[in-house]
Amino acid sequence: MELQEILSQLAWAAQNPRKMLEVQLSQGKKVVGCFPSYTPEELVDAAGMVPFGVWGAQTEPYLAKKYLPVFACPILQSSLEMGLSGKLKGLSAVVIPTLCDTFRCITQDWLAGVPDIPMIPVSYPQNRTDAGIRFLRYEFETVKGKLEAICGHPITEADLERSICVYNDHTAVMREFVAIANEHLDVIDPVTRHHVMKSAWFMSKAEHTRLMRELISALKAAPPHCFKGRRVLLSGIAAEPDGLLQILADNNMAVVGDDLAQESRQYMSPIPEGVGDPLLRLAGKWRGQLCSLAHDEGKQRVDMLVDMAQVAGADGMIFCQMKFCDPEEYDYPLIARALKEIDVPTLCLEVDQQPGSTEQVRTRLQTFAEMLG
Ligand code: SF4
Repeated sequence: MELQEILSQLAWAAQNPRKMLEVQLSQGKKVVGCFPSYTPEELVDAAGMVPFGVWGAQTEPYLAKKYLPVFACPILQSSLEMGLSGKLKGLSAVVIPTLCDTFRCITQDWLAGVPDIPMIPVSYPQNRTDAGIRFLRYEFETVKGKLEAICGHPITEADLERSICVYNDHTAVMREFVAIANEHLDVIDPVTRHHVMKSAWFMSKAEHTRLMRELISALKAAPPHCFKGRRVLLSGIAAEPDGLLQILADNNMAVVGDDLAQESRQYMSPIPEGVGDPLLRLAGKWRGQLCSLAHDEGKQRVDMLVDMAQVAGADGMIFCQMKFCDPEEYDYPLIARALKEIDVPTLCLEVDQQPGSTEQVRTRLQTFAEMLG
């Protein structure tokens, strides 16, 4: 496939989650909704079902207001709205990790408001020592049992091992893409990059890996581009809507790295393959996750972002602060201070999924671009 054809296919998937769901359902597959961020998708895949990301949508919540306070983050407001309004009809279940206070109440809201789609909760421990990881392993065992009841057969160790390999392959290609994209910032503009990353949530990982391999080959075959604009990093939960990223492109800014929960944060490390209990290895991934949602003694996420800025030669960083997301709010001052020490300016932008004007954001991004020189 030609480069542009692959990019169009991935962009279509990222922009049309409902249609992607219908494609899977029309092929007779069972699909399981996976709320962000660290849902054990590998278990869904090992069960022979398709994991499907539930990351909210650009929508004004009406029904969800009956269940959630107005200060609940937009991702969970709009995700619950989709469930209540029937936009997720067809899912065989949803898996919801209780990673923050808003997540904790949404599990119960879902049970009450969306009874036709079974909900599987999973509790992540903030204690990430051996005891915590063993606890998480037992949580995964419970999730596995519930998924087995839905798919109608046992998930064997061999199934899970195969799935871990599929996910590790996917992690490897996504990391390779992130690196090679920086040599082609003319083609991989901020919106295109986001579509490539987001599309992974709406197709099977094996299918996405296949497309990503074709994309990487096509990029390797193209001559590298010498980008003359400003190079920025993105951090936060998600950098949406597309209009926000288009403003970056309009102001000659390119994204050269990210630790967005929706994008690169999930590809930090592979899961060890083939040695010992696969459920324990799967749980072990949580131990090293650098994220505002995981207790991170010493805030290693800050050092990781400093390294990322230096390696990518970033001129600045944009912190996409999801509205009302307090775990992320705690990390921003530390990140901004550390990046300032290496002369990388930061801009904190509030991200909202509700439709609205982007003109204020445009002004702030234009000013930031001018400040970067
Ligand atoms: S971590 Fe933040 S964005 Fe994610 S569900 Fe909680 S409040 Fe919302």
